[in-house]
Amino acid sequence: MNAPFKLRPYQQEAVDATLRHFRQSDESAVIVLPTGAGKSLVIAELARLAKRKILVLTHVKELVEQNHAKYQSYGLTGGIFSAGLKRKESRHQVTFASVQSVAANLDRFRGEYSLIIIDECHRVSGDDTSQYQRIIELLRQQNDALKVLGLTATPYRLAMGWIYRYHYRGFVRGGEDKPFQHCIYELPLRYMINRGYLTRPELVNAAVAQYDFSALPQDRFGEYAEKDVNQLLRKHRRVTRAIIEQVVELAGERKGVMIFAATVDHAREITGYLPAHQTALVTGATDLSERASLIQRFKQRQLKYLVNVSVLTTGFDAPHVDLIAILRPTQSVSLYQQIVGRGLRLDDGKQDCLVIDYAGNNVNLHHPEVGEPKPNPDSEPVQVFCPACGFANIFWGKTDCDGHVVEHYGRRCQGLLEPAEADGPAAPNGRPQQCDYRFRFKACPYCGGENDIVARNCQQCRKAIIDPDDQLRDALKLKDAMVIRCAGITLSAYNGNADSKSESKLRITYHGEDGEELSESFDLSKPSQRYIFNKLFGRRVANSQAPREFSTTGEVLESQALLPAPDFVIARHQKRYWQVQERIFDYQGSYRKANEV
Ligand SMILES: [Zn+2]
Ligand SMILES: [Zn+2]
Repeated sequence: MNAPFKLRPYQQEAVDATLRHFRQSDESAVIVLPTGAGKSLVIAELARLAKRKILVLTHVKELVEQNHAKYQSYGLTGGIFSAGLKRKESRHQVTFASVQSVAANLDRFRGEYSLIIIDECHRVSGDDTSQYQRIIELLRQQNDALKVLGLTATPYRLAMGWIYRYHYRGFVRGGEDKPFQHCIYELPLRYMINRGYLTRPELVNAAVAQYDFSALPQDRFGEYAEKDVNQLLRKHRRVTRAIIEQVVELAGERKGVMIFAATVDHAREITGYLPAHQTALVTGATDLSERASLIQRFKQRQLKYLVNVSVLTTGFDAPHVDLIAILRPTQSVSLYQQIVGRGLRLDDGKQDCLVIDYAGNNVNLHHPEVGEPKPNPDSEPVQVFCPACGFANIFWGKTDCDGHVVEHYGRRCQGLLEPAEADGPAAPNGRPQQCDYRFRFKACPYCGGENDIVARNCQQCRKAIIDPDDQLRDALKLKDAMVIRCAGITLSAYNGNADSKSESKLRITYHGEDGEELSESFDLSKPSQRYIFNKLFGRRVANSQAPREFSTTGEVLESQALLPAPDFVIARHQKRYWQVQERIFDYQGSYRKANEV
């Protein structure tokens, strides 16, 4: 049977990429298509082409229904397995199911499936006990060549960052903890907009006023507690009023306005400033039938303003929306994109969609290149070239006023090397290898190999690497040991031997935050000391962006501003002096570092 729909070129490309990938690999894959790109058509086409049993999973019944309807429109018959839709059919070749219903009825899925397709797959966590993982595990027991394909517009999760490891354009997003292996196709939002498939978002600077949430404490996902947000907003009622006045002014010629509030209290306050007969408020507590009728009236343009607290993101579709005001903070790029996505559908006479961010979220819609959580609020994406392979990494970091990178949080280069370029033995599967250059690392005390800063075992010699926390704890217990939180280093040259006019030695002084000092010397004319110095300091010059092999004290002094300071220094008491034993760089653990609160 022929496809009754003609796929758009990129939809066909996504289908082709999937077939190509699974023809040569059983590893899981992700397709990234912006909201509005027609994921359900790609799913329908893949389901149509499949010869054996397949399962299409999503987390909400609306999407189960939508994907099923698209498939049926091919003139094919698929089953629905969803308690919410009151249908539990699992005998068809293609089953559209909600993940909760399948996880609760695993015994109904004992047959052999060849493919699982997961829509909105950024909801899959890496956790083995999650509903998705349990289903995948069960079906894999019945078919060890089971293929897993995810589709999403936003391939990241809070606290996890990117949901896949390898990108087909040749870079690596992360380690083994990612739920998917390969991103095999990605279509940028800009393409959809430029081709006229989506409305252009017009980002407006919030001229009148803006909230500043940055001083509030964050949880481990970077989100704020509701009571803190409410407290801050209560102090800023004038700001809220001024913002809403501006929204109303900008809404003059606009057809549909969505306002995203931070909390329920905040949403009520906002609603109070809007014209009552044109405004609806929808929160998680709004009764479902009332919610449906409010949304209906909004879609029919009887209401102009729709205020909500993040309940109208996934699946909400009112194409006429042409102004979006964001008054809530979020660290989630994914949530931010979903919010903006509400205004990007095409509609008759719609030219663009105004997007105003009053909460200072500062998400770049087109290049949300950093999927990893922000290490601290004032970080920004910075470009860091790998000294080994030249790849332009994007990491969180800081720049000075001239735009130079002064600090970054990247650990390992994300470049992918073709098998021929990679050092050492080629990967067994001939797959491109991640560049092994590390910007932050723990050196193995046994073999000198470089490891990730949280590695427990050396990746080269497999020996256990001592945990810096253990080192610090042990040293703090000893009477003859001294531990300093190092706030900086100073360097000087001195001549150890009075008669020698030759090479001067290098003294490094480590300054503790309370004024304590420890120092040690390196004689760079001796190969063994030069080697250790370069391993410790030369390797880390300029945040490891420009590693160097120093051969004289003079060279080191010329570059002293670029030399790193360790986070902790441990010394042991000898007869008359303190002997430095350990310098801990790139520390990540439970002890506070210098200059941290
Ligand atoms: Zn590299
Ligand atoms: Zn080792």
